[in-house]
Amino acid sequence: MNKKKRRFFKKLTGLVLASALLLSAAGCGSGAAGGDQPGHGKWINSNLPDNATLCADQRLEDDFAAAVNAEWNMAQNFDPSETYGAMGDSEKIVTQRIMDILNDPTDQDPNVVKLRTFYGLYTDWEYRDQLGIEPLRTYLGYIDEIHSIEDVYQYMMDSSKNPFAAMFFKCSMDQREHLVVQINQPDYSLEESNRYVSLGEDGLQRKEQVKNKIHYLMGRLGYSEEEADILIDQNFAFELKMAELSPGGEIFVNFYDDIPLSEVVRAAGDFPIQRILEHFGMDKLQGYTVDVDYLRGLSGICTEKNLEEIKAYFKTFLMWKSMRYLDHECFLKEKEIKLDRTNPYAEVVETAMDTYFNREVRYSPLAALRDQIYLDRFYDEEEKKEIETMCRDYIRGYRELIMEKDWLSQENKERIFEKLDAVRFMIMKPDNEADYSDLSLRSKEEGGSILDAFAEINRCNLETMGKLPDGEIDRDYWNIYDNSVSTTEPNGMYFMNRNVFIVQIGIVNGEFYSKDMSYEEKLGRIGHLIGHELTHAFDSTGVKYDSEGRENAIINGDDMSVFSKKADKVREYYSRIVFPDGSWSYDGTHDISGEAIADMGGLKCALKLAEKVEGFDYDKFFRSFASISRQLISRSNVVQIVLNDEHPLEYLRTNIAAQQFDEFNETYGIQPGDGMYLAPGDRIAIW
Ligand SMILES: [Zn+2]
Repeated sequence: MNKKKRRFFKKLTGLVLASALLLSAAGCGSGAAGGDQPGHGKWINSNLPDNATLCADQRLEDDFAAAVNAEWNMAQNFDPSETYGAMGDSEKIVTQRIMDILNDPTDQDPNVVKLRTFYGLYTDWEYRDQLGIEPLRTYLGYIDEIHSIEDVYQYMMDSSKNPFAAMFFKCSMDQREHLVVQINQPDYSLEESNRYVSLGEDGLQRKEQVKNKIHYLMGRLGYSEEEADILIDQNFAFELKMAELSPGGEIFVNFYDDIPLSEVVRAAGDFPIQRILEHFGMDKLQGYTVDVDYLRGLSGICTEKNLEEIKAYFKTFLMWKSMRYLDHECFLKEKEIKLDRTNPYAEVVETAMDTYFNREVRYSPLAALRDQIYLDRFYDEEEKKEIETMCRDYIRGYRELIMEKDWLSQENKERIFEKLDAVRFMIMKPDNEADYSDLSLRSKEEGGSILDAFAEINRCNLETMGKLPDGEIDRDYWNIYDNSVSTTEPNGMYFMNRNVFIVQIGIVNGEFYSKDMSYEEKLGRIGHLIGHELTHAFDSTGVKYDSEGRENAIINGDDMSVFSKKADKVREYYSRIVFPDGSWSYDGTHDISGEAIADMGGLKCALKLAEKVEGFDYDKFFRSFASISRQLISRSNVVQIVLNDEHPLEYLRTNIAAQQFDEFNETYGIQPGDGMYLAPGDRIAIW
């Protein structure tokens, strides 16, 4: 048995959703705290649209991010419903390409036809308004037909009645030595099982949101407030029973890794897990990853006595899952209910339907369908080869960089080299092809609804898990059906538990890469993504995992306390940033050190590679580096990022990474007194 941390990946950045929320850091320099804070009070938050014109007056020596991106910042006509930034532009390129394909009626590729059908259901407000909330009423009716525990099991297996696959547990794809199905706790309405034990502030807000959703929907369906309250109480009562079975919370859960079906079945006792897995063809896999404590307890709560609570759970689950798929009123109401009340700038923003549609698909089991359509048309082997070569160069550069670190013993260096040599990368294209030939969606012309579509999509998704290839797979096997790594997402990721990083095809475009860019541009752009992801292998979390991704520290003895002190210095430096409103700070409630270390390490590694290039144009390189983090976001999004995101604000990432290096200071003649100046003894780069 392994105690597993479930969040194993680190991304280049959290993609800011225009429709989602973000502090403030407004105003020029803020003036507070003065010289002690990063930038000596001279940096402005160039990610804030209100500051765009101020950027034009910023000296490059004082505020590199603002000066380099000033022209771009001023050219944008900010609309909070849109995304503005290099990464956002990559997303727009992917979305536009997909839309061009869907809008081309001559393209009759079966995959395209299926995605087009879903698009028709999703984006036609007139049609959705015409259906109103009736699709929900229909599916709620099926839950009313449940009269026994056997009916409960039949409901779980009948996809045509159960559009979001409510089963008391959730199946997802995972990989160990072979592809496995992970059997985990279900999606809870409060999101995390530990919230049922201790609600906390976030949990309290979430609980209010769930209640408001159910009240709203039941009101529209003609139920009374009292009826809604009874249902909500019954649902929470049953969710508490499930959560208590294994209250490890969202992050830490006791997983049994890669066990055979017989052990899964034994753990489940009277709960008919075998019958359910068999029904979806998922009983033939080589292994399963299972939250066994949870599974053991399930049969004890699936009783006739709990039947009404179980039905309330199914109904609540169906309602909060389906609210955004009904009519326009529901869609907007959900957005209003979901607003973060702790964020004073939060507001309801509505984005273009094409953007919503593409994000919806991207996070759904249809992601591989969209990925396959995109790969079939835009994957370029030559681009892949060039990026692969860059990855290998970065690994070589890293080795040199490590060799220079005199605070590391030879023994620890060897361990780092071993991990470095074992790093693998997955570039642009997954190892298998998506097959959706079995998916049959009913179009709006045929009277289908989005809920009908999800019923079919989730059935197909469950059955796909049963058909995954057998046999051993490598650490760098990339399963196209795993939508946590959809290749059309504009990003990169590092997987701690596999020592593998990924460059998704969604980022191999726009500001990040084109074949005709100069070496300096490539190094500053897609190269920075590679260097950043690679450094996650050696950030504050990465150093705790070995070359195979096992939890086994690669830096030992006194060197580890040196490393820890260095990581503390990174956190301390960020904590000195003073935001003008004074209400927010990098106070350590969430750890930004991993991302900050990755930014600085990636840049340092690129500079190692640059040393070998005669006549290397450092100005072009640093400007390229700053341009990929250009971004404009609302105040609401700024607040959200400072409070919750592991990634610091982009202008800070650019300025703080750049100011660590002599090459930067020499290129721009940075002197003491300049905003970008950081004395050698105060620098915080670890690698
Ligand atoms: Zn990262």
